[in-house]
Amino acid sequence: MSNPAPETASNASTGPAYAIVDHTYDVVVVGAGGSGLRATMGAAEAGLKTACITKVFPTRSHTVAAQGGIAASLGNNTPDHWSWHMYDTVKGSDWLGDQDAIEYMVREAPQAVYELEHAGVPFSRNDNGTIYQRPFGGHMQNMGEGPPVQRTCAAADRTGHAMLHALYQQSLKYDADFFIEYFALDLIMESDSSGVPQCRGVIAMCLDDGTIHRFRAKAVVLATGGYGRCYYTATSAHTCTGDGGGMVLRAGLPLQDMEFVQFHPTGIYGAGVLITEGARGEGGYLTNSEGERFMERYAPSAKDLASRDVVSRSMALEMREGRGVGPEKDHIFLHLDHIDPKVLAERLPGITESGKIFAGVDLTRQPLPVTPTVHYNMGGIPCNYHGEVVTIGPDGDPETVVPGLFAVGEAACVSVHGANRLGSNSLIDLVVFGRATGHRLKELIEPGTSHDELPKDSADLALTRLDHFRHASGGSPTAQIRAEMQKTMQKHAAVFRDSKLLSEGVELLKQVNKRMEDIHVSDRSLIWNSDLVETLELDNLMAQANVTIASAENRKESRGAHAHEDYPDRDDANWMKHTVAWFDGWGGNGGAVKIDYRPVHEYTLTDDIAYIEPKKRVY
Ligand SMILES: Cc1cc2nc3c(=O)[nH]c(=O)nc-3n(C[C@H](O)[C@H](O)[C@H](O)COP(=O)(O)OP(=O)(O)OC[C@H]3O[C@@H](n4cnc5c(N)ncnc54)[C@H](O)[C@@H]3O)c2cc1C
Repeated sequence: MSNPAPETASNASTGPAYAIVDHTYDVVVVGAGGSGLRATMGAAEAGLKTACITKVFPTRSHTVAAQGGIAASLGNNTPDHWSWHMYDTVKGSDWLGDQDAIEYMVREAPQAVYELEHAGVPFSRNDNGTIYQRPFGGHMQNMGEGPPVQRTCAAADRTGHAMLHALYQQSLKYDADFFIEYFALDLIMESDSSGVPQCRGVIAMCLDDGTIHRFRAKAVVLATGGYGRCYYTATSAHTCTGDGGGMVLRAGLPLQDMEFVQFHPTGIYGAGVLITEGARGEGGYLTNSEGERFMERYAPSAKDLASRDVVSRSMALEMREGRGVGPEKDHIFLHLDHIDPKVLAERLPGITESGKIFAGVDLTRQPLPVTPTVHYNMGGIPCNYHGEVVTIGPDGDPETVVPGLFAVGEAACVSVHGANRLGSNSLIDLVVFGRATGHRLKELIEPGTSHDELPKDSADLALTRLDHFRHASGGSPTAQIRAEMQKTMQKHAAVFRDSKLLSEGVELLKQVNKRMEDIHVSDRSLIWNSDLVETLELDNLMAQANVTIASAENRKESRGAHAHEDYPDRDDANWMKHTVAWFDGWGGNGGAVKIDYRPVHEYTLTDDIAYIEPKKRVY
C-alpha cells in the first residue's frame, strides 16, 4: 500500500534547517503491532481521521513472533471463569498489578478472542469445533487452588503470526492512512497553565528518502512495543528498542516499574530464540545434569508450569549449584522427546523447526538446551485502563492524565502484569486495551473539529537531536556502545540481583551513557541511513537501561521478576507501590534518574469481585 500524499511543506522555525512535510489527523498511532493495529482500527471505526506510523512493515512487528497463545476464560477444554483468570493474573503480578485494570482485561478477554476469530484468526480446534485451549504457566482453576486450567487459545505455535496478519488485513478495510517505514523521532508537547504537558502530535522521518514529517494530532497513541534489546540476549526482535519510552522520557514524563524485566525460562542456549511455554503446556519438562525433574522441588504443585519468574530462578539456582548441563554447566535440558511426534507436528511445528535450526536438535529424540532469556518488559509508559497516559501532576495527584497522549501494548504499563506477566496475557492485553483506547478516543474527540495552532518550535527537539547524531563524529561506533550497555545489563540486572551488583551496575551504566558524548556515526546521508537509525534507537535504549537499573537498585525487596538477594522477601508494608522514574542524562550527561512512586490500585472495577488480598506466592 502506498503512503498517503502530504498536505503542505514548510520550514522549521529555529531548529536545524530541514524541510518539513505537514499532515493533520485526529489520531496518530505510532506502531503497527497487535496493539497499534487494534487501536488504529478502533479510532478509524469511530470516524476519526487516523494515521498509523510504523518503522517496519506492519506484519514484521514483533507480535508476529508470538508463539504460544492468547489467554481468555472460554472454558472450552476445562472449566474456567473470568474471576479465576483474574486471581491468577493478580497472583502472577505478585500483587503489583492494578486490580481495576486486571478485572477489565479478564472480563473483556473472551469477547476479544471471539472478535479475533471472526476477523479470521485460524485458531487450532477441538474435535467439537470450539477453539482449542492449552495449559500455560501460572494459569489455574478454582482461584489458584488448581489443577491447571486450559485457558490459552492458540493457532498451533504461530499465534502471533496468525493474529497480526488477520489484524492487518482487517485494518486495511478501515479508512486509516498507513505511513510504512517511517521512524517516529519525538512527540510534540506543550505545557498549559496547569503545568501538565499536553501532546499535540509527533515528528517522524521517512526512512526511504529522509524527509521529515510533522503530524499534528488531537491524540497520539504510542504502541511501540518493548525494549528487550537493552540486554545482550533477548527473544525480542532487534527492532524492540523502546522508542516510545524514549520519547516519553525526553518529553519530561516518567516510566513505571522498569525494574521488572521478564526472563523466559526457555530461550535456546546460545541463540536466544524462544521456545514457547506451550511446550511445557503440552507436557514438556526440564531436567538438570543429574537427569532430575528439579521443578518438582521448587513448585510441588504447578511444577514445570509455575510462573516464569519462579521457573527462571529455579533454573538459575540449579546452574549456580553446579547442576547445569554441558561442559560449562550453563544450561538446562527441555524434554519433549516423550511426546507423540504427531502431537508435536500438529501443535508445536514452529519450535520443532527452531530446535533443528538453532540447536541442531531433533526434538522428537533429543532434549533441547535452554537457558533463561530476556523476554518481556512489565514496565513502561504509565497509563490507565482507557489507554490514557498518566503522571504525577504538579499538585501531587498520581492519576493526572496527560492530555492527548495514549499508550498501549508492551510499551505501556497499565498495569495488568505488575511484577511478573503470565504467559499468553500479553496478546490479550494488546487487543483488549487497543480496543479500549479506541473507545476512549471516540468519547474524547469529535471528528472534523479544528486543531489548535502548533507551537513555533514544534519540530526543534526532534530535529536538533536528529542533526546532532547525524553529524556525530566522536571515537565510539554505535555498535560498540550498544554492546557495552547490553553486557552491563546482562551482568548487573539479571535473574538474580544484589546490592553490590546493582550499585556497580548503576555506576557502570552511567559511564556507558557518558560515551554517548563520543559517539560516531559514519553515514551522513538521509537515504535509508541504518547507522543513524540504530543510533537513535540506542539513545532510546540507553535512557531506559539507566532507568531500569536505577529502579532495580532502588527497590529493596524481592517481588515477581525482581529477585534481590539481600532482600529476599516481598515487603508489602514498604514496597507495594509502583516506581515512576524520570531520566535527565541525555547526550551523555551523567545519567541522572529521579524516582518517585504511584500507589497500586487496591480496588476492583466493580462490586462483582472483591479486592484480592495479598498472600504468599507459592505454586
Ligand atoms: C518471541 C516472542 C514470543 C512471544 N509469545 C507470546 C505469546 O505466545 N503470548 C503472549 O501473550 N505474548 C507473547 N509474547 C509477547 C508479545 O508478543 C509482545 O509483548 C507483543 O506482541 C508486543 O506487541 P506490541 O503491539 O506492543 O508491539 P510490537 O509488536 O513489538 O510492535 C511495535 C510496533 O511499533 C513500531 N515502532 C516502534 N518504534 C517505532 C518508531 N520509532 N517509529 C515508528 N514505529 C515504531 C514498530 O514498527 C512495530 O510496528 C512474545 C514475545 C516474543 C518476543
